[in-house]
Amino acid sequence: MSKIAIFPGSFDPITVGHVELIQRALPLFDKIIVAIGVNSQKKSLFSLEDRMMWLEEVFRSEPKVQVGQFEGLTAHYAQQIGARYLLRGLRNASDFDYEKTISQLNNIVGEGLETIFLISQPAYSHISSTIVREIIKGGGDASPFLPEALHQVKL
Ligand code: ADP
Repeated sequence: MSKIAIFPGSFDPITVGHVELIQRALPLFDKIIVAIGVNSQKKSLFSLEDRMMWLEEVFRSEPKVQVGQFEGLTAHYAQQIGARYLLRGLRNASDFDYEKTISQLNNIVGEGLETIFLISQPAYSHISSTIVREIIKGGGDASPFLPEALHQVKL
């Protein structure tokens, strides 16, 4: 049975932190579905279309990565696509506190869905989409935090 993991997030926008985590997780799985969870209550800075396009661009030459989008519960989407594993990154203790409960819930709702956590590399643990959005909104240069595929994009 192939090992499929889902890496869910807002990716508003995707950062080098996400990419580094996915690259480190690739040897563990046959396939990783990087999926945007669409939450109509949560306002994103970038459109779903742009965020999807950037994910496709970033992973264009990585055959083990597919991109997707879903509404509703991550655990239900994982079941739909046959993913038994959920990949998440841990940057600090607050990520841990938040993720711990979600992972326990997902294990029940997802009927055995296992969350695999990778601790971020020190060089990436300060990077978040939130910080990148703040830099962009303030007119700063966010390119050090963005994958190369996004460097040409006028954000
Ligand atoms: P969310 O909308 O759930 O906050 P994000 O798009 O911010 O999702 O992040 C998705 C996942 O990527 C989360 O597990 C988060 O911990 C992880 N992640 C984000 N930035 C980094 C980073 N710099 N290093 C490692 N993991 C990260």
